[in-house]
Amino acid sequence: MILEIKTFPSEILRKKAEEVTEFNEELHLLLDNMFETMYQAKGIGLAAPQVGVSKRFFVLDDMSGAENKNPMEIINPVFLEKEGEILEEEGCLSIPGEYAYVKRYMNVKVKYQDRFGNEKIIEATDRLSRILQHESDHLDGTLFIDRLPNTKRETIKKHVKKRINQGDYQVNQ
Ligand SMILES: [Zn+2]
Repeated sequence: MILEIKTFPSEILRKKAEEVTEFNEELHLLLDNMFETMYQAKGIGLAAPQVGVSKRFFVLDDMSGAENKNPMEIINPVFLEKEGEILEEEGCLSIPGEYAYVKRYMNVKVKYQDRFGNEKIIEATDRLSRILQHESDHLDGTLFIDRLPNTKRETIKKHVKKRINQGDYQVNQ
């Protein structure tokens, strides 16, 4: 099932999400629907708050691996290590059509749980590292525009406002 993606400035995108404690069928169904929604929107990551669920998990696919597919489910992520620095262009399904260069850590090590509650650790660099940081930010109510210099952030906000007035940007609360 395709879910509605909440868009900036929706309130739910600003809430700190809660830890997942039950690894049940409801969670599995939501994860499956989030994958379907992410692929349909041609995104590479989608966090639960973006579909209106204030819980700490997300799905992603950095398009590496066999047949350019590498679906991953990350639940209750905790960063164990962060190092280096990289500046790359970034966008977000919740602020469609807006892009900016965002500074991120180059390498990260993250502890997380899979859909059954098993603990895992992933070490990531470059693109995958960036997705993990962007999606984890969503769980704390942080958007990529918050990581930009003030002037750049204001430019994007103004542009979104203009697009809303022109009917060229849909706000999903
Ligand atoms: Zn995003």
